[in-house]
Amino acid sequence: MIPYGRQNIDDADIDAVVKTLTSDWLTQGPRVPAFESALASYCDAKFGIAVNSATSALHIACLALDVGAGDIVWTSPNSFVASANCALYCGASIDFVDIDINTGNMCVDALTIKLAEADKKNCLPKVIIPVHFAGQPCDMVQIAKLAEQYQFKIIEDASHAVGAKYLGSTVGSCQYSDICVFSFHPVKIITTMEGGMAMTNQQALADKMRLLRSHGVSNDPSVMRSKAHGPWYYEQVGLGFNYRMNDIEAALGSSQLTKLDDFIAKRNAVAVRYSERFAENEWITPLVVDDAAYSSFHLYIVRIPELTQQQQSKLIETLRDKGIFAHLHYIPIHIQPYYADLGFKAGDLPNAERYYCEALTLPIFPNLTTSQIDFIADTLILLVNSLKR
Ligand SMILES: *Cc1c(COP(=O)(O)O)cnc(C)c1O
Repeated sequence: MIPYGRQNIDDADIDAVVKTLTSDWLTQGPRVPAFESALASYCDAKFGIAVNSATSALHIACLALDVGAGDIVWTSPNSFVASANCALYCGASIDFVDIDINTGNMCVDALTIKLAEADKKNCLPKVIIPVHFAGQPCDMVQIAKLAEQYQFKIIEDASHAVGAKYLGSTVGSCQYSDICVFSFHPVKIITTMEGGMAMTNQQALADKMRLLRSHGVSNDPSVMRSKAHGPWYYEQVGLGFNYRMNDIEAALGSSQLTKLDDFIAKRNAVAVRYSERFAENEWITPLVVDDAAYSSFHLYIVRIPELTQQQQSKLIETLRDKGIFAHLHYIPIHIQPYYADLGFKAGDLPNAERYYCEALTLPIFPNLTTSQIDFIADTLILLVNSLKR
């Protein structure tokens, strides 16, 4: 079976992990700050706060921006549930902005209209979480302009987009946002097994997130209220969590980071080959990548217009029977039962819902071979043609 995504672990990665296992530190040693500064420097961000998942990073990012009861957060319905759950962890309420069906990203026109309406009703969001879907950065210039106009904060959910670029700047530079979050789950671009990082250029946000990831506890004299009782002394100054990344994960992350550009070049080459193969087919429509964006191609997605759910399901099943693990990203968050219980319903976000009926995720990872790509493309073209004719 050709999987839809696969981690890429080499001998250097294994050496880095094994060396750490036999070192003095397994948990809070020197490798976590080393990974943080390596990735911050790669992205041109001032600070990186490594945590045990992107989900944790989204949670502490919201808390650092003072999201709490009575606040409203908006995100994209075309994402993993964690993009929305983080607001609910903080006691805030969540709402969704519909997508541009051609890119799968939050639609800036829909956002503009929704903000104007919310402004009239006095229910503007405190934070908006754009998701760089499949690795393509959102239209951050426009979103940042709206943030200025309506005074909301921005957390980029860049779980798919480490190494992606937007108008020449690297995602994670936070040029257009307050905080940017990455995931290092094995299906993503680089892996630390479980892991994530929050990037920011704002010292106050970095300090807050560091406290939140580790119980709200500190031994930094500038943070503590009393003078140290002695060398053992620390203070809990807020309510935090145990969201720390460990040194083994960080060692793997630093080793993976040295290969990031290569991984992304290879993913782009896979995408180019697929798109060439599908160029002649009138039904198979790859997601559009904007000129402003260099996608990290976490996912390769095509749309096939006017499929019935039954046809879509059969198509994915048949591909899997033939050894191609096709997938579907994403079920719109607002139609999940938990979100339906909160009052969201089918029909609320027509583009995300239509997209969900038409989309299909094909395998993409750096070592996917040309003959595998051609086999996948041939198989899909044959199946779609027989469906449509
Ligand atoms: C994977 C993913 C997450 C969660 O990442 P974890 O590191 O597994 O917590 C959040 N948002 C998006 C868009 C993702 O794809």
